[in-house]
Amino acid sequence: MRGTVLYGPRDVRFEERDAPKIIEPTDAVIRIAATCVCGSDLWPYRGLQPINGPTPMGHEYCGFVEEVGSAVKSVKPGQFVVGSFATSDNTCPHCQYGYQSSCMHCEFMTRAQAPLLRVPLADGTLVSTPSVPSDDLVPSLLTTSDVLGTGWFAADAANVKPGSTVAVVGDGAVGLLGILSAKQMGAARIIAMSRHDKRQKLAREFGATDIVTERGENGVARIKDLTNGIGADSVLECVGTQESMMQAINSTRPGGYVGYVGVPHGVALNGEQLFFAHVHLHGGPAPVRRYLPELIKLVWDRKINPGKVFDMALPLDQVAEAYRAMDERRAVKTLLRP
Ligand SMILES: [Zn+2]
Repeated sequence: MRGTVLYGPRDVRFEERDAPKIIEPTDAVIRIAATCVCGSDLWPYRGLQPINGPTPMGHEYCGFVEEVGSAVKSVKPGQFVVGSFATSDNTCPHCQYGYQSSCMHCEFMTRAQAPLLRVPLADGTLVSTPSVPSDDLVPSLLTTSDVLGTGWFAADAANVKPGSTVAVVGDGAVGLLGILSAKQMGAARIIAMSRHDKRQKLAREFGATDIVTERGENGVARIKDLTNGIGADSVLECVGTQESMMQAINSTRPGGYVGYVGVPHGVALNGEQLFFAHVHLHGGPAPVRRYLPELIKLVWDRKINPGKVFDMALPLDQVAEAYRAMDERRAVKTLLRP
Protein backbone atom coordinates (compact mmCIF):
# COMPACT_ATOMS: atom_id res chain seq x y z
CA MET A 1 0.00 0.00 0.00
CA ARG A 2 1.12 3.58 -0.61
CA GLY A 3 0.39 6.33 1.90
CA THR A 4 1.23 9.97 2.64
CA VAL A 5 4.37 10.81 4.59
CA LEU A 6 5.72 14.25 5.51
CA TYR A 7 9.53 14.31 5.48
CA GLY A 8 10.12 17.97 6.25
CA PRO A 9 8.99 21.45 5.22
CA ARG A 10 7.11 21.23 1.89
CA ASP A 11 8.29 17.65 1.34
CA VAL A 12 5.23 15.38 1.11
CA ARG A 13 5.68 11.93 -0.43
CA PHE A 14 3.20 9.24 -1.38
CA GLU A 15 5.20 6.13 -0.75
CA GLU A 16 5.12 2.43 -0.02
CA ARG A 17 4.39 1.47 3.57
CA ASP A 18 2.87 -1.51 5.38
CA ALA A 19 -0.89 -1.91 5.04
CA PRO A 20 -2.64 -1.56 8.41
CA LYS A 21 -3.86 -4.67 10.23
CA ILE A 22 -6.05 -5.38 13.21
CA ILE A 23 -3.79 -5.15 16.28
CA GLU A 24 -6.24 -4.87 19.18
CA PRO A 25 -9.59 -6.72 19.28
CA THR A 26 -11.29 -3.29 19.46
CA ASP A 27 -9.79 -2.14 16.12
CA ALA A 28 -11.37 -1.83 12.70
CA VAL A 29 -9.63 -1.42 9.37
CA ILE A 30 -11.48 0.72 6.87
CA ARG A 31 -11.07 1.22 3.11
CA ILE A 32 -10.99 4.98 2.59
CA ALA A 33 -13.64 6.42 0.25
CA ALA A 34 -12.36 9.98 0.68
CA THR A 35 -9.86 11.89 2.79
CA CYS A 36 -8.45 15.41 2.64
CA VAL A 37 -5.81 17.87 3.79
CA CYS A 38 -6.57 19.80 6.99
CA GLY A 39 -5.56 23.40 7.71
CA SER A 40 -3.73 22.01 10.75
CA ASP A 41 -1.61 19.80 8.43
CA LEU A 42 -0.17 23.02 7.01
CA TRP A 43 1.57 23.93 10.29
CA PRO A 44 4.09 21.05 10.05
CA TYR A 45 4.08 21.31 6.23
CA ARG A 46 5.31 24.89 6.53
CA GLY A 47 7.90 23.90 9.12
CA LEU A 48 6.10 25.92 11.82
CA GLN A 49 5.57 22.81 13.93
CA PRO A 50 8.58 20.48 14.26
CA ILE A 51 8.30 16.80 13.32
CA ASN A 52 10.50 13.93 14.46
CA GLY A 53 11.47 12.27 11.21
CA PRO A 54 9.14 11.02 8.46
CA THR A 55 5.52 11.39 9.68
CA PRO A 56 2.44 9.65 8.21
CA MET A 57 -0.30 12.22 7.62
CA GLY A 58 -4.07 12.53 7.58
CA HIS A 59 -6.85 12.47 10.16
CA GLU A 60 -10.09 13.10 8.22
CA TYR A 61 -11.71 10.00 6.81
CA CYS A 62 -14.78 8.05 5.78
CA GLY A 63 -15.13 4.75 4.00
CA PHE A 64 -16.09 1.11 4.13
CA VAL A 65 -15.37 -1.22 7.02
CA GLU A 66 -12.99 -3.86 5.68
CA GLU A 67 -12.32 -5.90 8.80
CA VAL A 68 -13.09 -5.70 12.53
CA GLY A 69 -11.42 -7.10 15.64
CA SER A 70 -13.16 -9.79 17.69
CA ALA A 71 -14.48 -7.34 20.31
CA VAL A 72 -16.09 -4.88 17.88
CA LYS A 73 -19.89 -4.91 18.09
CA SER A 74 -21.34 -1.73 16.58
CA VAL A 75 -19.89 -1.79 13.05
CA LYS A 76 -19.39 -4.60 10.61
CA PRO A 77 -17.61 -5.20 7.30
CA GLY A 78 -19.28 -3.55 4.32
CA GLN A 79 -20.82 -0.67 6.28
CA PHE A 80 -19.98 2.92 5.37
CA VAL A 81 -18.62 4.78 8.38
CA VAL A 82 -17.32 8.16 9.46
CA GLY A 83 -15.03 8.58 12.45
CA SER A 84 -13.60 11.42 14.48
CA PHE A 85 -10.00 12.56 14.08
CA ALA A 86 -9.68 11.62 17.77
CA THR A 87 -10.50 8.07 18.84
CA SER A 88 -12.69 7.52 21.90
CA ASP A 89 -14.14 4.65 23.89
CA ASN A 90 -17.32 6.73 24.27
CA THR A 91 -17.83 5.23 27.74
CA CYS A 92 -15.34 6.91 30.12
CA PRO A 93 -16.45 9.90 32.26
CA HIS A 94 -15.01 12.48 29.85
CA CYS A 95 -16.83 10.85 26.94
CA GLN A 96 -20.06 10.76 28.92
CA TYR A 97 -19.75 14.49 29.53
CA GLY A 98 -19.44 14.89 25.75
CA TYR A 99 -15.69 15.53 25.55
CA GLN A 100 -14.68 12.48 23.51
CA SER A 101 -11.58 14.25 22.17
CA SER A 102 -10.34 14.22 25.80
CA CYS A 103 -11.26 10.53 26.22
CA MET A 104 -9.10 8.75 28.79
CA HIS A 105 -8.07 6.42 25.94
CA CYS A 106 -7.95 9.00 23.16
CA GLU A 107 -5.48 8.71 20.28
CA PHE A 108 -5.20 11.27 17.50
CA MET A 109 -5.43 9.73 14.04
CA THR A 110 -2.43 10.39 11.78
CA ARG A 111 -2.52 7.94 8.88
CA ALA A 112 -5.73 8.68 7.01
CA GLN A 113 -4.23 9.99 3.74
CA ALA A 114 -3.92 6.42 2.54
CA PRO A 115 -6.23 3.79 0.97
CA LEU A 116 -6.54 1.77 4.19
CA LEU A 117 -6.72 2.94 7.79
CA ARG A 118 -6.67 1.24 11.17
CA VAL A 119 -9.14 2.82 13.59
CA PRO A 120 -8.62 1.94 17.27
CA LEU A 121 -11.65 1.82 19.60
CA ALA A 122 -13.92 1.30 16.60
CA ASP A 123 -17.13 0.98 18.64
CA GLY A 124 -16.64 4.34 20.34
CA THR A 125 -15.12 6.19 17.39
CA LEU A 126 -17.00 5.22 14.22
CA VAL A 127 -20.59 5.99 13.27
CA SER A 128 -22.22 4.19 10.34
CA THR A 129 -24.51 5.82 7.79
CA PRO A 130 -28.05 4.41 7.30
CA SER A 131 -26.90 2.65 4.10
CA VAL A 132 -24.24 3.06 1.42
CA PRO A 133 -24.30 6.77 0.47
CA SER A 134 -24.67 8.01 -3.07
CA ASP A 135 -21.37 9.29 -4.37
CA ASP A 136 -22.32 12.97 -4.26
CA LEU A 137 -22.87 12.77 -0.48
CA VAL A 138 -19.36 11.47 0.21
CA PRO A 139 -17.59 14.90 0.35
CA SER A 140 -20.17 16.25 2.82
CA LEU A 141 -19.99 13.08 4.94
CA LEU A 142 -16.21 13.44 5.00
CA THR A 143 -16.49 16.96 6.47
CA THR A 144 -18.31 15.60 9.53
CA SER A 145 -15.08 13.77 10.48
CA ASP A 146 -13.31 16.99 11.44
CA VAL A 147 -13.79 20.26 9.59
CA LEU A 148 -17.58 20.52 10.00
CA GLY A 149 -17.46 18.95 13.47
CA THR A 150 -14.87 21.55 14.44
CA GLY A 151 -16.85 24.49 13.01
CA TRP A 152 -19.93 23.14 14.78
CA PHE A 153 -18.08 22.89 18.08
CA ALA A 154 -16.80 26.47 17.64
CA ALA A 155 -20.40 27.67 17.30
CA ASP A 156 -21.65 25.48 20.14
CA ALA A 157 -18.78 26.55 22.44
CA ALA A 158 -19.55 30.18 21.54
CA ASN A 159 -23.12 29.57 22.73
CA VAL A 160 -24.78 30.44 19.41
CA LYS A 161 -28.55 30.52 19.94
CA PRO A 162 -31.56 31.56 17.84
CA GLY A 163 -31.26 35.31 17.32
CA SER A 164 -27.56 35.57 18.21
CA THR A 165 -25.15 38.01 16.61
CA VAL A 166 -22.09 36.02 15.61
CA ALA A 167 -18.64 36.99 14.30
CA VAL A 168 -16.30 34.47 12.71
CA VAL A 169 -12.54 35.04 12.70
CA GLY A 170 -10.87 33.00 9.94
CA ASP A 171 -12.10 32.23 6.42
CA GLY A 172 -10.51 28.80 6.07
CA ALA A 173 -12.69 25.71 5.76
CA VAL A 174 -13.35 25.58 9.53
CA GLY A 175 -14.40 29.25 9.66
CA LEU A 176 -16.66 28.78 6.64
CA LEU A 177 -18.33 25.75 8.20
CA GLY A 178 -18.55 27.65 11.49
CA ILE A 179 -20.75 30.06 9.55
CA LEU A 180 -22.89 27.18 8.26
CA SER A 181 -23.15 25.85 11.83
CA ALA A 182 -24.14 29.21 13.32
CA LYS A 183 -26.81 29.52 10.63
CA GLN A 184 -28.18 26.05 11.51
CA MET A 185 -28.26 27.05 15.18
CA GLY A 186 -30.45 30.03 14.31
CA ALA A 187 -28.06 32.98 14.43
CA ALA A 188 -29.78 36.16 13.25
CA ARG A 189 -26.64 37.89 12.08
CA ILE A 190 -23.32 36.34 11.05
CA ILE A 191 -20.34 38.58 10.38
CA ALA A 192 -17.57 36.85 8.42
CA MET A 193 -14.06 38.27 8.62
CA SER A 194 -12.47 37.63 5.23
CA ARG A 195 -10.57 39.51 2.58
CA HIS A 196 -10.77 36.94 -0.22
CA ASP A 197 -13.52 37.25 -2.84
CA LYS A 198 -14.00 33.53 -3.37
CA ARG A 199 -14.21 32.81 0.35
CA GLN A 200 -16.56 35.75 0.94
CA LYS A 201 -18.88 34.30 -1.68
CA LEU A 202 -18.93 30.89 -0.01
CA ALA A 203 -19.35 32.58 3.40
CA ARG A 204 -22.51 34.31 2.11
CA GLU A 205 -23.76 31.06 0.62
CA PHE A 206 -23.34 29.39 4.03
CA GLY A 207 -25.24 32.16 5.81
CA ALA A 208 -22.98 35.19 6.43
CA THR A 209 -24.97 38.42 6.48
CA ASP A 210 -22.02 40.84 6.69
CA ILE A 211 -18.38 40.76 5.61
CA VAL A 212 -15.56 42.56 7.40
CA THR A 213 -12.28 42.77 5.51
CA GLU A 214 -10.25 44.58 8.19
CA ARG A 215 -8.09 42.69 10.66
CA GLY A 216 -6.65 43.25 14.13
CA GLU A 217 -7.75 46.44 15.89
CA ASN A 218 -9.41 47.74 12.73
CA GLY A 219 -11.36 44.52 12.43
CA VAL A 220 -12.51 44.84 16.05
CA ALA A 221 -13.57 48.45 15.39
CA ARG A 222 -15.66 47.31 12.39
CA ILE A 223 -17.42 44.64 14.49
CA LYS A 224 -18.18 47.28 17.12
CA ASP A 225 -19.53 49.62 14.39
CA LEU A 226 -21.80 46.88 13.09
CA THR A 227 -23.16 46.07 16.57
CA ASN A 228 -23.93 49.59 17.85
CA GLY A 229 -20.69 49.64 19.82
CA ILE A 230 -21.64 46.52 21.79
CA GLY A 231 -19.68 43.63 20.25
CA ALA A 232 -20.88 40.21 19.13
CA ASP A 233 -22.71 37.74 21.41
CA SER A 234 -20.66 34.85 20.04
CA VAL A 235 -17.29 34.85 18.30
CA LEU A 236 -15.77 31.82 16.59
CA GLU A 237 -11.95 31.83 16.54
CA CYS A 238 -10.84 29.55 13.72
CA VAL A 239 -7.17 30.45 13.13
CA GLY A 240 -4.97 30.02 16.22
CA THR A 241 -2.63 33.01 16.14
CA GLN A 242 -2.12 35.73 18.73
CA GLU A 243 -3.74 38.29 16.44
CA SER A 244 -6.80 36.16 15.67
CA MET A 245 -7.32 35.24 19.33
CA MET A 246 -7.17 38.87 20.47
CA GLN A 247 -9.39 39.87 17.55
CA ALA A 248 -11.94 37.30 18.77
CA ILE A 249 -11.79 38.29 22.45
CA ASN A 250 -11.98 42.01 21.70
CA SER A 251 -14.90 41.58 19.27
CA THR A 252 -17.02 39.87 21.94
CA ARG A 253 -19.40 41.86 24.10
CA PRO A 254 -19.00 41.70 27.88
CA GLY A 255 -20.76 38.50 28.93
CA GLY A 256 -20.40 37.01 25.44
CA TYR A 257 -18.65 33.84 24.36
CA VAL A 258 -15.57 32.95 22.35
CA GLY A 259 -15.44 29.44 20.86
CA TYR A 260 -11.83 28.82 19.86
CA VAL A 261 -10.85 25.90 17.66
CA GLY A 262 -7.79 27.15 15.75
CA VAL A 263 -4.83 25.12 17.06
CA PRO A 264 -2.90 27.81 18.98
CA HIS A 265 0.59 28.62 17.78
CA GLY A 266 2.37 31.12 20.01
CA VAL A 267 -0.81 32.40 21.64
CA ALA A 268 -0.26 33.98 25.09
CA LEU A 269 -3.08 35.67 26.98
CA ASN A 270 -2.61 38.61 29.31
CA GLY A 271 -4.43 37.96 32.60
CA GLU A 272 -5.38 41.55 33.20
CA GLN A 273 -6.76 42.02 29.68
CA LEU A 274 -8.69 38.78 30.05
CA PHE A 275 -10.05 39.87 33.44
CA PHE A 276 -11.51 43.10 32.09
CA ALA A 277 -12.73 41.55 28.79
CA HIS A 278 -15.46 39.77 30.76
CA VAL A 279 -15.91 37.00 28.17
CA HIS A 280 -16.42 33.23 28.33
CA LEU A 281 -13.66 31.26 26.63
CA HIS A 282 -14.31 27.67 25.59
CA GLY A 283 -12.47 25.70 22.95
CA GLY A 284 -10.02 22.94 22.20
CA PRO A 285 -9.96 19.92 19.91
CA ALA A 286 -13.57 19.43 18.87
CA PRO A 287 -15.40 16.48 20.44
CA VAL A 288 -16.54 15.49 16.96
CA ARG A 289 -17.88 12.12 18.12
CA ARG A 290 -20.55 13.91 20.19
CA TYR A 291 -21.91 15.60 17.06
CA LEU A 292 -21.43 12.84 14.45
CA PRO A 293 -24.94 11.28 14.58
CA GLU A 294 -26.62 14.70 14.26
CA LEU A 295 -24.29 15.98 11.54
CA ILE A 296 -24.47 12.77 9.51
CA LYS A 297 -28.27 13.02 9.64
CA LEU A 298 -28.26 16.66 8.45
CA VAL A 299 -26.06 15.65 5.51
CA TRP A 300 -28.02 12.48 4.81
CA ASP A 301 -31.32 14.41 4.72
CA ARG A 302 -29.63 17.01 2.45
CA LYS A 303 -30.39 19.83 4.88
CA ILE A 304 -26.79 21.08 4.63
CA ASN A 305 -24.10 20.83 1.96
CA PRO A 306 -20.78 21.34 3.78
CA GLY A 307 -18.93 19.45 1.02
CA LYS A 308 -18.94 22.76 -0.89
CA VAL A 309 -15.78 23.73 1.00
CA PHE A 310 -13.89 21.35 -1.28
CA ASP A 311 -12.96 23.54 -4.21
CA MET A 312 -10.38 21.09 -5.52
CA ALA A 313 -10.43 17.31 -5.88
CA LEU A 314 -7.45 15.13 -6.74
CA PRO A 315 -6.57 11.47 -6.84
CA LEU A 316 -4.85 10.49 -3.59
CA ASP A 317 -1.50 9.84 -5.29
CA GLN A 318 -1.35 13.59 -6.09
CA VAL A 319 -1.48 14.46 -2.39
CA ALA A 320 1.68 16.62 -2.66
CA GLU A 321 -0.15 18.95 -5.04
CA ALA A 322 -3.10 19.07 -2.60
CA TYR A 323 -0.77 20.43 0.11
CA ARG A 324 0.84 22.92 -2.31
CA ALA A 325 -2.53 24.25 -3.48
CA MET A 326 -3.70 24.85 0.09
CA ASP A 327 -0.36 26.28 1.20
CA GLU A 328 -0.49 28.78 -1.68
CA ARG A 329 -4.17 29.47 -0.94
CA ARG A 330 -5.14 28.33 -4.44
CA ALA A 331 -7.59 25.96 -2.76
CA VAL A 332 -9.69 26.31 0.40
CA LYS A 333 -9.65 22.56 0.89
CA THR A 334 -8.67 19.63 -1.28
CA LEU A 335 -10.60 16.37 -1.46
CA LEU A 336 -8.55 13.23 -2.06
CA ARG A 337 -9.89 9.96 -3.40
CA PRO A 338 -7.86 6.73 -3.59
ZN1 LIG B 1 -13.64 8.00 26.80
